[in-house]
Amino acid sequence: MSIKQISRNKGGYGVKQSRRDILKLGAITIAGVTIPLTAFELLTPEALASTKKEHGTGKRWGFVVNATKCVGCGMCVKACKTENEVPMDIKVSRTWVERYIQLKDGEVIIDSPEEARNGFIKNDPRGRTIKEEDISKGFFVPKLCNQCEKPSCVQVCPVGATYKTEDGVVLVDRTWCIGCAYCVQNCPYGARFIHPVHMVAEKCTFCYHRITKGMNSACMDACAFGARKIGDINDPNSEVYKLINSNRVMVLKPEYGNEPMVFYIGLDHIVR
Ligand code: SF4
Ligand code: SF4
Repeated sequence: MSIKQISRNKGGYGVKQSRRDILKLGAITIAGVTIPLTAFELLTPEALASTKKEHGTGKRWGFVVNATKCVGCGMCVKACKTENEVPMDIKVSRTWVERYIQLKDGEVIIDSPEEARNGFIKNDPRGRTIKEEDISKGFFVPKLCNQCEKPSCVQVCPVGATYKTEDGVVLVDRTWCIGCAYCVQNCPYGARFIHPVHMVAEKCTFCYHRITKGMNSACMDACAFGARKIGDINDPNSEVYKLINSNRVMVLKPEYGNEPMVFYIGLDHIVR
């Protein structure tokens, strides 16, 4: 019995390979890039300790997503678009929520209609009608820029328009950006896009304009279920520090070496 793997790629969701092929290889290859069977890494206490050592004692903004708490309502996406002036009706967003459905025959279907700004109203992933009795499991995974410690988007920018702040947030200077989209192509997480109005690179900033004034990100405040938390991962008194150090946390796509600073709790092994 074959399983189709469908992953979010920059242009959408379209990579297909049989389960047997994947198991045989232990990895899949997309556009020349080899991606291991599991696209996230469970961080061991040693790995977490070395992350802290690298950042020293200064402030380092980080994010925790508790995937087990997300109900896919999309309130976070709506709040983000409103807060950061990303047009509501255009199919781009600084944050989005993915729905994962695994069927009893093993097939995995992933979708994020309109980035989930209106939630997941219909049971029609990718336009398909799925019978409830055919579903083995389903869940939601919020995604956003990982504010990487080693951001590939910064490395490829030819004019230095994108940069990392001292407290670890990757920003774009709109006055310098020439809209070449190299960074869009080189983010392994599909977190960047060209702003439809300003025509420059756009992405999540962890709501830097809010967090540096003592507020939460708009998405965190909008989530009634506590699935999103932001804070200083170097501060032992912060909620994110406590969550990271008292749970089994994971990061997405560690094989790219970006060292993501968005930590996930409760990720299922089928998440890409
Ligand atoms: S997730 Fe992508 S856009 Fe965000 S810092 Fe990392 S490489 Fe850059
Ligand atoms: S607001 Fe919270 S529960 Fe709703 S989709 Fe966003 S993260 Fe999930």
